[in-house]
Amino acid sequence: MSGPNTDYDPVEVAAVSPAEVEAARDAALAAIAAAADLEQLKAVRTEHAGDRSPLALANREIGALPPQARKEAGQRVGQARGAVNQALAARQVELEAENEARILVEEAVDVTLPTDRDPVGARHPLTTGSELIADIFVAMGWEVAEGPVIEAEWLNFDALNLGPDHPARTMQDTFWTDPADDHLVLRTHTSPVQARTMLTRGVSEGAPIYVVCPGRVFRTDEYDATHSPMFHQVEGLAIDEGISMAHLKGTLDHFASQMFGEGITTRFRPSYFPFTEPSAEVDLVCFVCRGTGLNDAGSDPCRTCRGEGWIEWGGCGIVNPRVLQACGVDSTRYSGFAFGMGIDRTLMFRHGLEDLRTLFEGDVRFTTAFGSEL
Ligand SMILES: [Zn+2]
Repeated sequence: MSGPNTDYDPVEVAAVSPAEVEAARDAALAAIAAAADLEQLKAVRTEHAGDRSPLALANREIGALPPQARKEAGQRVGQARGAVNQALAARQVELEAENEARILVEEAVDVTLPTDRDPVGARHPLTTGSELIADIFVAMGWEVAEGPVIEAEWLNFDALNLGPDHPARTMQDTFWTDPADDHLVLRTHTSPVQARTMLTRGVSEGAPIYVVCPGRVFRTDEYDATHSPMFHQVEGLAIDEGISMAHLKGTLDHFASQMFGEGITTRFRPSYFPFTEPSAEVDLVCFVCRGTGLNDAGSDPCRTCRGEGWIEWGGCGIVNPRVLQACGVDSTRYSGFAFGMGIDRTLMFRHGLEDLRTLFEGDVRFTTAFGSEL
């Protein structure tokens, strides 16, 4: 059917016969009316109005007809196609409207319903953690002391037996404020609070010192998963008559078991700090493997303590008599112990945190999880 045919009788070309065109049109209109949704209508459009539909094929046949037959056949096919396209457009509008109406009903939101999604604030784990630590000591009759974060150089270093040549006084560890003549630093530890307590309160008969000082401290460290130029420490100081290492050990064992659970105690390793003598590093029995150094299955090293069975926790010691003397305490009569540990680090292993920075970056998804802990 590709070339002109002069002997052509249009009736013999089935595709453009009036009956065929009418049947194709009626079939298309019936299918359009029956399309129940936009998806079905799309299929109907392809089948009855697409390039390979009967009416499109009929339209292609017209070009092959003799000129005298083209007009009549063209009109017939054109009218049928027009009727189909009109019906398609009308049904499209109808179905779209139905679809919208359905969505409005199905996805309706009752704005008058009460909601339980009011964002409720949560206190930061550093706040609740510091309070928990303070509570443990308050329960033993200790006081909580605070001090300024911008501190006199003398209180931060000299009073604590950190002489002018001590490495901790170099620019690498300490943030100094301008002008240098003011001799002010961002405190590098919470120990100056202890010096302040001794200086302002003093120690006299029947008035010993038992203070715990949680607070923010600063050092010129890199900011990474385990370091931060700003972090939190808690320090404790006890000054009384007859204070010994045994009191220190008992106090820290109690602190450890309150913080990490019954049976979690500490061990001391010899160390050096200028403000205590003797001095010790404090390790904690790993509260995950409880000191075995093995994981639950007993086959691999414990991940929390890396198989050691112990976790480094902080430093401690008997207060150096020179510190007592610098702070006006009679070192021949009184003795004391002091200890200090990182609050951030304590919270990291208490809660299994991998990255120190999660404590400082203010992501509410992190803090909200701690919201119920009191
Ligand atoms: Zn362990």
